[in-house]
This record gives sequence, C-alpha cells and structure tokens, in this order.
Amino acid sequence: MAIFSEYNFSSKKALIRVDFNVPLNEHFEITDDTRMTSTMPTIKKILADGGSVILMSHLGRPKDGPTDKYSLKHLVSHLKTLLVDVKVDFANDCIGQEAIDKSAALQNGEVLLLENLRFYKEEEKGDAAFAEKLSKLGDVYVNDAFGTAHRAHASTAVIANYFAADKKMFGLLMEAEVISAEKVLHAAEKPFTAIIGGAKVSDKILIIENLLNRATDIIIGGGMAYTFWKAQGKMIGNSLCEDDRMPLALEILAKAKSLGVNIHLPIDSTIADKFAADAQTSNCESYGIPSGWMGLDIGQKAVSDFSEVILNSKTILWNGPMGVFEMEKFQNGTKSIALAVAEATSNGAFSLVGGGDSVAAVNMFHLADKVSYVSTGGGAMLEYFEGKILPGIAAIQKG
Ligand code: AMP
Repeated sequence: MAIFSEYNFSSKKALIRVDFNVPLNEHFEITDDTRMTSTMPTIKKILADGGSVILMSHLGRPKDGPTDKYSLKHLVSHLKTLLVDVKVDFANDCIGQEAIDKSAALQNGEVLLLENLRFYKEEEKGDAAFAEKLSKLGDVYVNDAFGTAHRAHASTAVIANYFAADKKMFGLLMEAEVISAEKVLHAAEKPFTAIIGGAKVSDKILIIENLLNRATDIIIGGGMAYTFWKAQGKMIGNSLCEDDRMPLALEILAKAKSLGVNIHLPIDSTIADKFAADAQTSNCESYGIPSGWMGLDIGQKAVSDFSEVILNSKTILWNGPMGVFEMEKFQNGTKSIALAVAEATSNGAFSLVGGGDSVAAVNMFHLADKVSYVSTGGGAMLEYFEGKILPGIAAIQKG
C-alpha cells in the first residue's frame, strides 16, 4: 500500500471512498456534517498537491434503486461551502457514461461527487464487475470511510483489487483510526485499562473476550454490570439483566482470574424506582439492590474505585456509558469516568474512545479534545475491538 501523506497527487485523479452518510432533515438539510468535515483534510491535501478528486459514498439505505430522498445531490451545496473556491460538480450516476465523461473532463484542483453507490444492489453485494467499473474512474484509490470498513462492499473493499499496491492507500481520517486502534490493540503500553459499559452483555461479549488477552484491567459498568452481579448470586432488584448470559459472565470472571486480568465491577449504584428522568433515586451496594428498584448509574464508591484504576493506566480504551447518561439524574458516573479519562490523558496516557454512546457522552461533556482519540468508526471500531479483520483495511494492506 502507498502512504497518503508521502504521496504526490499532482495531475492524479484520486477516487476517494468517503462516508458522507450524514443525517438529513425533511428539507434535505444536513443536521450534522461531522462525517463531511472530518474527511476534508484528505480532500484538501490532494487538491493542494495539484490533483483532482472523485468522491463516492453511500447515503441511507435505499431499497429500490435511485430514490430522490437518498440522492447525494442534496449534499452538493454544503460541499461547496466546505471547499471554498473549488469547482465542485455532481454526476447523476456513480457508473455509466456521465460518470465516465465527467471524471475524464475533471481538471486538477476540481472535485466531482458521484451519485449514491447504494442505488446499485451490486455495491453491498461486493460485485466485482461493478467495482471494476468504479475503479476505471480514477488513477489512485483512497479509502477514507472507516465507518464502512467492516463491510466487504464493492467500493470499500473489492475495488482495491483493481489498483496496484502503490496506487491504493488509506486517507488521513482512516489512517488516524487505524493507527489509534492498532496502538491500543497491538502496542498498548501497560497498564492497559478497558472500560466497557452500555446496556447489554450480549453486545459486548466479543470485545471483552478479545480484551481478556490484552488488557491489565477491565472495568465493567452500565446495565451489563448487573448480569455479572446476579451470576454470582447477588440481589440486583429490577436492574437490567440477561439471565441467559449469566453462565458466560461467570466464564469471563474465571478466565480473567486465570489470566491475571483484574475485572472491576461497580461496588455501588445510583438506584431508581422506575426507568424515568423523574424517578425517585437512592444509593446502595450494587449487589444488594432491593426489589422494585433498579441500578441506573454507578455510585460514588464505584466512581472512586474506577477513577483510581484509570489514573494508574498508560493506555485506556473506553466503549459504552456507565449509566443512563441521557437522563440528568444518572449522568454522574459517565461524566466522572470521562473526567478521569481526560485527567489520565493529561498525565500522559493514551486514550481511545470508540463506539456510539461513549462518543456521544464525551461530546456531551465537552471532553472530546481532552482524550487522545475519539473514533468516528461506530460499528467498524467495535468489530476491530472484537479482533475481527476489517475487509476495508485488509483490502488496502494486502498486495
Ligand atoms: P450500548 O449501545 O450497548 O453501548 O448501550 C448504551 C445504552 O445503555 C445507553 O442508552 C444507556 O442509557 C444504557 N444504559 C447504561 N446503563 C444502563 C443501566 N444501568 N440500565 C439500563 N440502561 C443502561
């Protein structure tokens, strides 16, 4: 593979797979343009080198071919505001004569956005002929769509087969995601603490299993902690629990012990008499929650325990909130842990926050710039943490 920052794009047409799957309101206005802004450094470097850019992306989940609602034409005017003084054109199809002609006519310093890739079912099927047609539009292939790297789609993986090793590379956003994730999973400075939270054990089981072989300490918070307590015969009242996962929880505890990995469960909880923002609240041990009450956040003792572990760490991976942070009464645990991660980072630890809700939490508490890296990768980052090989990464790295 080629290295993006070392590549000279002068007079090259760079075909970039971006993730422009942005949320639109009913007037087709973009309500959050993070996915577009985060790939701008990649686009701007190519233009600054004197190359041109052909952008391809999906938007939404169109079921039956071209649909106005999912057209990428709705993004063109905003793209122009992000690329001041750059000529931006749009092709009404991602393959076919118009795409071929407009790509061929593209001058250095110009940008062409292709229509939604998922208007063709061949995209998600990873169809080779479709991928080959796309590949013909550019001289080099750049993948900057980490959010879809876990999919073996035509534009995210298969297309790379049609470019020589020195003509395919990660874009700057994708490279930053891969470097951060690899640093944590394969080159973590110890002590390495993983903080895993969120609602369900079943969603996080593969991550925990993978991290058992890597982490020094695993902190388990959020709703999933109660399955671990109940599995050990404790009273958790009406807290969230997956009874069918209790044997697995015991297996994890036993495996951690045999591997010398410290598992930390929240010793106390903020409990509530109902799952609601106006619930009555109290505090008690997480392993003795009265019936009729449920644990909706970690308590103050747990915050102290967890913070101590976090502040002793050199590498921190955080996925999933410690409580129902969407409700003010149950925010304290997640916020306190976010602050501890920020403090550890300012003391020199490397911290990576990845996966939907923990990313939302650090943003909510305005701490995103106080951690080392916040992944935009969502599901792709989760699969990476699970130890899976992501097709979008493998396709660039091989050959
Ligand atoms: P996940 O998508 O698995 O990371 O789960 C995130 C969700 O878990 C958030 O919406 C939280 O409100 C929820 N959550 C966190 N802690 C608890 C808890 N103790 N009980 C119920 N839901 C929780």
